[in-house]
Amino acid sequence: MKHAFSDIRTLSDRPPRWYDQYGVPRYCEPEPAHCPDIYADQVAFFTISCQGCTQTFLVQLSWNRSALVTELLRVAQFLNFSLEKLDMEQLAVAIDRTGFVSAISQRDSHARLPAVSYYGDPPVHKNHDGICPGSTMTSEFVGLDRLYAKNALGVWVQRYPYPG
Ligand SMILES: [Zn+2]
Repeated sequence: MKHAFSDIRTLSDRPPRWYDQYGVPRYCEPEPAHCPDIYADQVAFFTISCQGCTQTFLVQLSWNRSALVTELLRVAQFLNFSLEKLDMEQLAVAIDRTGFVSAISQRDSHARLPAVSYYGDPPVHKNHDGICPGSTMTSEFVGLDRLYAKNALGVWVQRYPYPG
C-alpha cells in the first residue's frame, strides 16, 4: 500500500492529474521534467486500474541507469561477489534490456511493456464506502500513454507514441 499523502490532497479540491512513482498526487502537466528522480534517463506515463473498483489512474515510473548500476554493485558487494568476475559489458547489455526504451517498439509495446511497468498498488483512493480496499491490491496495467527518454544532450525526447 502506498502512502495516502492526505496533507497534499487537502490543499486542493481538484482531483490529481496523475500520480508519480511513489503515489504522490500531482496537479501539474504530466511531463518528464516533473519526475521526482531528477537523474532519471527514461520516464513512462501509463494508465492502471484498481482491482477493487476498476477506477483508472494515470501514473508515472522512471528508470535511472546509474542508480541501477550503483544498486547492483552494492548488492554484489553485500553478497561478497567478486567484482572482477563481473563482465561489465554483459552487465551494461542486461541493464539496457531492463530499460523502457530498449524493451519497446511501436508494434510490440503491449506485449513487452507490462514486464517493465510494474506500478504495484494503486494510489490510495476512495470508493462509495470510504478508502477503497483495492488500494492494498496490485494494480492492473491498462495501457501506455507516453514514454520519454533523455538524448545525449540530456534533453527529454518523446519516444512513444512516436511523434509525427
Ligand atoms: Zn479502487
